[in-house]
Amino acid sequence: PIPVIAIDGPSASGKGTVAARVAAALGWHYLDSGALYRLTALAVLQRGLQLDDAQQVTAVAAALDVSFLEGMILLDGEDATELIRAEAVGEAASKVAVLPSVRAALLQRQRDFARAPGLVADGRDMGSAVFPEASLKVFLTASAEERASRRYKQLIAKGESVNILRILQDIEQRDARDRARSVAPLQQLPDAHLLDTTQLSIEQAVKAVLDWWQA
Ligand code: C5P
Repeated sequence: PIPVIAIDGPSASGKGTVAARVAAALGWHYLDSGALYRLTALAVLQRGLQLDDAQQVTAVAAALDVSFLEGMILLDGEDATELIRAEAVGEAASKVAVLPSVRAALLQRQRDFARAPGLVADGRDMGSAVFPEASLKVFLTASAEERASRRYKQLIAKGESVNILRILQDIEQRDARDRARSVAPLQQLPDAHLLDTTQLSIEQAVKAVLDWWQA
């Protein structure tokens, strides 16, 4: 079997950065599963469909034309790398992500990323639904205030005008939706290592994961 490191956690926890760096350190593949939900949401919005229309959204997810090339993400052949990072798209992603048929439509696409020599996958349900047999499971989190402050700095760096309290509210709302849903809720699994990065640098977080893997 292909070794898989599953890294789950709430939004803006830094799990994407940590997962990508762990994958680079090991020379493994990397799956940003949230990007698939974001791409589904973006495609739904671009087609003028409703986010809660399960049938239409599922059809979009099943037919999603995406390619991941060297840090670039193409949707229908067009660069969507920056577009899918918008707050509104993250918000829309968490709405389509509550639909069980959408999750089912994206399941095999995610599993196909598990190729030799190994895969580091990040999301909400990597250790529970997508890769329950993962070799290592990590629940990566940070306090809501720390996550809001990290997101704030990113947005400021991009030149966006933002309100930190609004960001904190949005983060808490999205987490609440991800935790409360009946399908694949965000949760710390009993067999997952807890990695609280509130007081850790990216390097320290990456090292913690590599140490668990090598242990
Ligand atoms: O991780 P990211 O913020 O990019 O994910 C966007 C949204 O997609 C999350 O808020 C969550 O609702 C959904 N998602 C999910 N399962 C995953 C990854 C993301 O439901 N494995």
